[in-house]
Amino acid sequence: PFDVLVVGGGPAGAASAIYAARKGIRTGVAAERFGGQVLDTNAIENFISVTETDGPKLASALEEHVRSYEVDIMNLQRAEKLIPASQEGGLHEVRFASGASLKSKTLVLATGARWRKINVPGESEYQGKGVAYCPHCDGPLFKGKDVAVIGGGNSGVEAAIDLAGVVKHVTLLEFDDKLRADAVLQKKLHSLPNVTVLVSAQTTEITGENGRVNGLVYKDRKTGEEHTVALAGVFVQIGLLPNTDWLKGSVELTAHGEIIVDARGETSVPGVFAAGDVTTVPYKQIVIAVGEGAKAALSAFDHLIRHSVS
Ligand code: FAD
Repeated sequence: PFDVLVVGGGPAGAASAIYAARKGIRTGVAAERFGGQVLDTNAIENFISVTETDGPKLASALEEHVRSYEVDIMNLQRAEKLIPASQEGGLHEVRFASGASLKSKTLVLATGARWRKINVPGESEYQGKGVAYCPHCDGPLFKGKDVAVIGGGNSGVEAAIDLAGVVKHVTLLEFDDKLRADAVLQKKLHSLPNVTVLVSAQTTEITGENGRVNGLVYKDRKTGEEHTVALAGVFVQIGLLPNTDWLKGSVELTAHGEIIVDARGETSVPGVFAAGDVTTVPYKQIVIAVGEGAKAALSAFDHLIRHSVS
């Protein structure tokens, strides 16, 4: 069995594997797709100490760093079930879609998350070419330009307030006939001179030309009329889905499906830790996932020296 088995090979999983391996303990990483969300990213300008990189470059640097240690890397392995140890100090088991099963004294769950898509024509085609999901990441790329935010919940309204300070103008579109964000956020939003709020607005298409977004089409759900808005960018903010379907019934999750962790990254099951976008830790960013991954591995090591006899 492993001392530490990391499930997930994004920034959080890579950091966990490196920190665990540096303690000289048996470490494994199993991931469906090594690199994680980073693989889908174009420009990365906020990974501190790296002025500018791109997703594929950062993903291969993460993998190279992990491979420089004695770590068993099992790529293309999708975890399907976690069976926690039946007694404290026992082994936790992870079962995979391939039929494989791995046992470990401690686990770090780092299966990340994915942005919910609106699934309209143009969204996938222009992803990274004007269609964005992360205002902290891509906001500055639209300095001085017009953008839209789709979604009037807390994350959409926060994104619109954030972007209004960076871009020229923000149009916020909400499908429902009212915003769902907290009142304090709505008040702030309505106080901004360069924000237009559209409710009962169903986005039907993201349009582009020469390979980049140039606007969107929405239907006014009250009148049925179609309208177009000229834009350089569209931020889709309709939810982040943690990859935790496989964990239901094993570790405690929030109503949104995020793994609940304490300050040390420990879940509701002793010896099972979690890190990165899959957890309740706020602000889903690479630099944060890396730090949380390191923390979870150190906590797993601490657990081992306190609870393990051999
Ligand atoms: P992930 O990167 O999501 O990795 C999860 C890992 O778990 C993957 O290896 C995946 O294959 C694996 N996995 C999932 N389910 C299973 C399973 N059942 N079994 C086994 N393995 C599984 N952040 C920034 O800081 N700067 C940016 O510029 C930036 N730009 C972004 C652009 C885009 C388009 C996107 C989508 C995200 C961007 N982010 C950016 C966010 C950043 O990518 C994430 O915060 C970060 O990757 C989270 O790391 P993670 O390791 O927690 O999860």
